[in-house]
Amino acid sequence: MLSIKNLHASVEDKEILKGINLEVKAGEVHAIMGPNGAGKSTLSSIIAGNENYEVSQGEIFLDNEEISELAPEERAHKGIFLSFQYPVEIPGVSVTNFIKTAINESRKAKGLEDMPANEMLKKIREKSELLEMDKKFLSRSLNQGFSGGEKKRNEIFQMAMLEPKIAILDETDSGLDIDALRIVANGVNKLKSKDNAVVVITHYQRLLEYIVPDFVHVLMDGKIVKSGTAALALELEEKGYDWIKAEIQ
Ligand code: ADP
Ligand code: MG
Ligand code: MG
Repeated sequence: MLSIKNLHASVEDKEILKGINLEVKAGEVHAIMGPNGAGKSTLSSIIAGNENYEVSQGEIFLDNEEISELAPEERAHKGIFLSFQYPVEIPGVSVTNFIKTAINESRKAKGLEDMPANEMLKKIREKSELLEMDKKFLSRSLNQGFSGGEKKRNEIFQMAMLEPKIAILDETDSGLDIDALRIVANGVNKLKSKDNAVVVITHYQRLLEYIVPDFVHVLMDGKIVKSGTAALALELEEKGYDWIKAEIQ
């Protein structure tokens, strides 16, 4: 589904990604772990199409289509979802209105008419019930005064509504409390299917107690230096990253 080949990228002439290779198939959950500054967020931004980074080498494929040259919106319309992409506060625009607009923009890009209002309402009802969301939350202004947990809930709701092929969740926020972690984990576990894939990027093993990954990759200094199963995350939690550094030298 997602295939990254020999990806090199830099910002302000500093090389940050130094040859990333990653294959994510439908139905899989991958975790990318690694020390601070390794390039995890850079990788997720580049997959989503952030134009602040210069890709100097390599390719990104989604369902065998090269997407490296596409704008962020085009990638989103093709089914790539990145958490924290829309953290902006929009007073007067509710959680529901925001997602309605996003869905209809995506349909428009595919040459489709707006989703009929009754279908949209049904979908909102279904997904918000699945995620056990409070109805009042849906009419609140986007991100305004949202707690960490509420921001996460909104993000997972957006993911549920947009039904991406591949969701990349960059849990950069070390301040995530246990409730927020559970919201993310429950949401991911409810939304994952044989037709989609999830990449969870995290500095901590904690989240992986709730979302059990099929594969764990260690990103260090711009490269994936080790891959394994969920057991690798536990090993990292216990032993840190230094032993891997020693192993690869
Ligand atoms: P991680 O998410 O693994 O902690 P990042 O991808 O955020 O790592 O950062 C990797 C490295 O790239 C860091 O040294 C960081 O300072 C640098 N970096 C990332 N984005 C930028 C940017 N926009 N401008 C300058 N340096 C950046
Ligand atoms: Mg960081
Ligand atoms: Mg990061």
